[in-house]
Amino acid sequence: MKKSKNIYLDYASATPLDSGVLKLMNKIGAQYFANPSSIHDLGMASKKIIDESRVQIAKILSAHADEIVFTSGATESNNLAIKGVVVLKNFPHIVTTNIEHASVLEVYKNLEENKLAEVTFVEVEPNGIVDPKKIKKALQKNTVLVSVMYANNEIGTIQPIREIAKEIRHFNKLNSVKVLFHTDATQAMNYLDINLEKLGVDLLSFNAGKIYGPKGIGVLYIKRKTPITAVTKGGDQEFHYRAGTENIVSIVGLKEALTIIEKIKEKEIKRVKKLQEYFFSKLLKIDSVILNGNRENRLPNNINITIPKIPSDLLVIELSARGIMVSAKSACKSGEVGGSHVLAAINPKASQEDGSLRFSLGRATTKQDIDYTLKSLSQILTKLKKWYT
Ligand code: PMP
Repeated sequence: MKKSKNIYLDYASATPLDSGVLKLMNKIGAQYFANPSSIHDLGMASKKIIDESRVQIAKILSAHADEIVFTSGATESNNLAIKGVVVLKNFPHIVTTNIEHASVLEVYKNLEENKLAEVTFVEVEPNGIVDPKKIKKALQKNTVLVSVMYANNEIGTIQPIREIAKEIRHFNKLNSVKVLFHTDATQAMNYLDINLEKLGVDLLSFNAGKIYGPKGIGVLYIKRKTPITAVTKGGDQEFHYRAGTENIVSIVGLKEALTIIEKIKEKEIKRVKKLQEYFFSKLLKIDSVILNGNRENRLPNNINITIPKIPSDLLVIELSARGIMVSAKSACKSGEVGGSHVLAAINPKASQEDGSLRFSLGRATTKQDIDYTLKSLSQILTKLKKWYT
């Protein structure tokens, strides 16, 4: 009973490119091709387009234009935020959580392995949320940086960024130090408040590929006066923080995608939240299904469940055969390739035999999509339980 149209419930992995954004990118691409570093008229025109985009992005985020640095995506933003700070210090201490994205965790593990930094991985609570007091407790005299993601990409839990920022400010004042605060906001941009005047962070990463913009472009917000140096060297673009010819078309795409979010955010949060509630109410009635992560303090588009004893990949393939696209990972043992360190972190007793599914909703998701998904999942479970339980 494969549907003629696909039901895409994997928006946390990637979002489709908004048609308005694409149209604008095509127009810009044809017109502004000259190198923004060239001093001739066409080069200056390219530079102007980038500058205007930067101003608009800064305005949306309540930041200054010279605090917006374009990168190739959130992975690069995270790498720059961490390495750019650490390289200026001699064997510094860093605090993070055990459920960060790989583009944060792997950087820290690599710094540790190479004896370039000491890292404290604060464990989140079983609900997938970190206790700000535990972050505070982990701070040391030689701590230079704290990294806590705004919202988790697998289970959607929202971290108390403002409270953590408050703890860090307090620590800084008490000890006359300046511990910096970085957050990976990649999953937060569509639904959470990103007012940088209020959030209290020094560094913030995100990309356009998760906000209905182009892939391969991102931002690192660097608060004025933050001691950080470039990782990619070889040019003075992006205020010397990131060398390389700017991706003009994608920068405009990112700006446009963010502008659209601002316009529709409030309405879209309400709409998606209603769908999520509906999904939860039906899904959690299915025998043996367990919700991963806190139910309230999570992104309105994230549903992550464990289904005991049925392999994740099999569930994904069965759903895909019915036209439903989702993601899945089972809990991993530490360091295991492909497994979920997040599910293992919130439930250390989780079995590798248990499957999990992440449904992430988006702008095109309808109640009919969810009804069809629930019906399909129910049929799949009835079939698979004969073999796997
Ligand atoms: N951080 C988080 C939380 C993410 O979800 C992702 C994308 N999966 C990234 C970083 C990496 O983003 P990019 O693909 O733009 O490098």
